[in-house]
Amino acid sequence: MEIIYDYPLYRPPSEANSMIFQVTLGCSFNKCSFCNMYRTKEYSERPWDEIKAEIDMVAKFYPDTRRVFLADGDALNLPKDRMIQILQYLYSKFPELERVSCYAMPMNLLKKKDDELEEMRAAGLHMLYVGIESGSDIVLKKVTKGATYRTIVQACQKAKRHGYILSCMVILGLGGKTYTREHIADTARILSETAPDYVGALTLHLEHGIYNEFMTKFGEPFIGLDDMGVLDELERLVANFNPKTRVVFRANHASNVYSIGGTMPDDKDKVLTLVRSLKSHPEMLKPKFLRRF
Ligand code: SF4
Repeated sequence: MEIIYDYPLYRPPSEANSMIFQVTLGCSFNKCSFCNMYRTKEYSERPWDEIKAEIDMVAKFYPDTRRVFLADGDALNLPKDRMIQILQYLYSKFPELERVSCYAMPMNLLKKKDDELEEMRAAGLHMLYVGIESGSDIVLKKVTKGATYRTIVQACQKAKRHGYILSCMVILGLGGKTYTREHIADTARILSETAPDYVGALTLHLEHGIYNEFMTKFGEPFIGLDDMGVLDELERLVANFNPKTRVVFRANHASNVYSIGGTMPDDKDKVLTLVRSLKSHPEMLKPKFLRRF
């Protein structure tokens, strides 16, 4: 049995063992200058008949599915009734189902009414992956994220208030050398204020197809960070990340210079010791050809 996906298909690393259903295609925003994930797709919502047929087919072959990820980049943009219809059908077809998750843009979280988020949570949508990228309003504007420090905090707090597990991504190197100070100070501040359940720190990697667009939208010469600059950002981010609740922090994405992780704030000293030792031993870093975004 094989689902015919509409490629490219993306999912967070922690959803590697999840069954993926594409309930939307592409990203309704599709304008972040660092992201080329869905540039080849026009955003659309797949018809119910197609989604249902796929769930029926998968249920025959994998009835014991425990985790589902709803793709593509923007499933929370679906109207609440369609999302609930999908969730209810998934739970009816997979009796062992424990977790359903999807990506969520800050603006989509803010667009949803409180009772809509509540209903979707009650119907079994558990976990949301939110791309924060940076806490700096300057950097967010330069990379055309379509969100600000304030709207991101509001969106994350809204999701947490309604009981969603929150996993957030930030991008090391996103402000280049010019804005590294603001980028990291404000990213540590936004992560401390929102205290998501999980944080993933990725490293900026510009694919050829969007390189020129990124540079143009940045509006001034972008000076990228080298490995030492990235490690320096990671050190400052961890040192200034002070959540009031425990947060699982990982910088172990394929784009990162090394796989690092711990629970904050408990493991802060351990992580800082590792990052500092990597700065003194660059030979320990992952070779460039093994890094992917
Ligand atoms: S980063 Fe997220 S919101 Fe921005 S274009 Fe890519 S998928 Fe869409």
